[in-house]
Amino acid sequence: MLNEEMYSLGSKRSVIRELFEYGKARAAEMGKDKVFDFSIGNPSVPPPTEVAKKLKELVLNTDAAALHGYTSAQGDPAVRAAVANSLKARFNTPYTADNIYMTCGASAALAITIRALCEKDDEFVIFAPYFPEYEVFIKSAGGTPVSVSFDGDLGIDFDSLEKAVSDKTKALIVNSPNNPSGTVYGEKTISRLAEFAKAFEKKHGRPLFIIADEPYRELVYGSAEPPFIPNYYDDTIYCYSYSKSLSLAGERIGYIAVSPKAQCAKDVYYAVMGAGRALGYVCAPVLFQRLIAECTDLRPNISAYRENRDLLANGLSEIGYECVLPDGAFYLFVKSPIGDSIEFAHKAKEEGIIIVPGDDFAARGWMRIAYCVSKDVIDRSMPAFRKLFESCMKK
Ligand code: PLP
Repeated sequence: MLNEEMYSLGSKRSVIRELFEYGKARAAEMGKDKVFDFSIGNPSVPPPTEVAKKLKELVLNTDAAALHGYTSAQGDPAVRAAVANSLKARFNTPYTADNIYMTCGASAALAITIRALCEKDDEFVIFAPYFPEYEVFIKSAGGTPVSVSFDGDLGIDFDSLEKAVSDKTKALIVNSPNNPSGTVYGEKTISRLAEFAKAFEKKHGRPLFIIADEPYRELVYGSAEPPFIPNYYDDTIYCYSYSKSLSLAGERIGYIAVSPKAQCAKDVYYAVMGAGRALGYVCAPVLFQRLIAECTDLRPNISAYRENRDLLANGLSEIGYECVLPDGAFYLFVKSPIGDSIEFAHKAKEEGIIIVPGDDFAARGWMRIAYCVSKDVIDRSMPAFRKLFESCMKK
């Protein structure tokens, strides 16, 4: 009677959402101060003040019918031109408005891109640890996710990648800064990846796409900007979102940029438009499209995230946890001291700590701690983390 696959997706919420709901219920029951909720990547830093100012100006000064009406499916031309010009100025990549497709955040950008590319039996390579929704988007487009497994090394394992690709591979999905590990791929890795993909194209005589998923590009703590993949590899489809960079996660705004240098760039763009249509997106939220046109060059204040990262990583390492100091995003990846991460997440819940087991990211034995919380939550959680660690060590 129902579509089994959709029923299953809807009735089994993602582990992250499940924990997020649990955290809210537990806080209502026990009091907020008893719960340390590190489950979800909801930005804790408010949007830059200019965002509210521009929104107010837009609402007060724009003709209301035009402000709230449909735009072209691919987005308002002036908005797309603003995004293209900003990318061009920043990365010296020759985008124009005709390469930009506005979306409801990175999720829609990914779902649309995958749908646009996917033909029967196509495979999409994803690198563990990875954002779990990739599997949902790939499978519902009729494709097959092929995972490059994770053995504790957070770089790209090129030997495993070689084994993962096949004559059915349509695209590699690359996420840097990474959710859940915070890893930022450096220039050497991206250059090598680009060489790998070029060699694949040469051997197979057809395009291999890189889908660059970069909602965390602006959240980096080192001095170097992450390499911009479209400048290393022409067949790159860039998926971006303002969810994290401008703390607008609930407003659903982002874009797809099809590289103008991609083989058949125009056809890819048409397929993107077709997929957006088939998926029923109509157009991205118009108020926020127009806001973005005014805010393309705004950057977040990430000092609070950096402070949280250092506080949490230092505090947990001092207790005895093994963690990887991340260069970007707002997640700390920590090894479960008892091996089994699901069991460890259960034990953590007993101490009021809500963290996500790595199994959902294809990284068994690891935990994700989202540190986009107030500093106070981190400070207050430290005794609970210590108690948890000591209770695990006793056994
Ligand atoms: N890609 C990654 C790696 C993410 O972590 C997220 C959200 O957490 C998304 C995509 C989707 O973000 P958006 O809110 O823009 O849909």
